[in-house]
Amino acid sequence: MSANTHRSGVSRSQELIEDIAWGSRILAMEGYADLTLGHLSARGPDGHTIYIKRKGVALGEVTPSDVLAVRLDDDHDHPPAEMHLETVLHTEVYKRRPDVYSIVHGHPPYATAFGATSAEFSYLTHDSVLFMDGIATYEGVPDLIMDSDQGRDVAEALADKTVLLLSNHGVLVVERDIRWAVLASVLLERSIRLQAIAGGLGELRPIPARFLKRIHEGKYQAQFAGEYWDAWVRELRRAGQAFGMPEDDAAGGDHDRRDEDDGR
Ligand SMILES: [Zn+2]
Repeated sequence: MSANTHRSGVSRSQELIEDIAWGSRILAMEGYADLTLGHLSARGPDGHTIYIKRKGVALGEVTPSDVLAVRLDDDHDHPPAEMHLETVLHTEVYKRRPDVYSIVHGHPPYATAFGATSAEFSYLTHDSVLFMDGIATYEGVPDLIMDSDQGRDVAEALADKTVLLLSNHGVLVVERDIRWAVLASVLLERSIRLQAIAGGLGELRPIPARFLKRIHEGKYQAQFAGEYWDAWVRELRRAGQAFGMPEDDAAGGDHDRRDEDDGR
């Protein structure tokens, strides 16, 4: 069965917590690694609680025990030491966007560099077509977003978009679930990396606008995010990057038992 289906005997909250750990590692593998910075969150099933990676660990080493539960209506201007100072980026968006169930904030090199220029996002590749509704920008303080007033300004700049570039700082990606938030974050960085490469090769030649909707409908069907996610999880397991995560029900256990039988 795909990891896109529910695991038996595991609560929805625990599934979200495990997926935040996997998603953080995927983001690290796909260009979002930056010291212990950057964070992924999800809205809990009760609607009042969000789950978010804690401060002090790198994206690539997040385990389920590094995920905090945070109540949306608490005061987040003075967060406890283990919480990211920029948690308000998440809470202020969740309060204003009932359609949003997962948020990524990070500083991937190409998208962050792009946000430090006056360049326009260009629809050059299939990756970029995911963002056919446009990309928002926040040109307020280039500093960390640490209080709820700044968080509100960012949420208002995002409006109804999926992606916001925080000028001279990083990116904010909001989506319907964790798999889509991670996929959109990775494709944003990839789109801008390809734009940077293309711009060095010659004059940009964007996909004609009339093709965008058709490509979007074919390539970004709802169920595809789970397929891509499963491939990333398999890649992390092959790379020995599944420490602290539940075993793969379908494969991992059998391999382990077979190894024992062989006396290894
Ligand atoms: Zn930041």
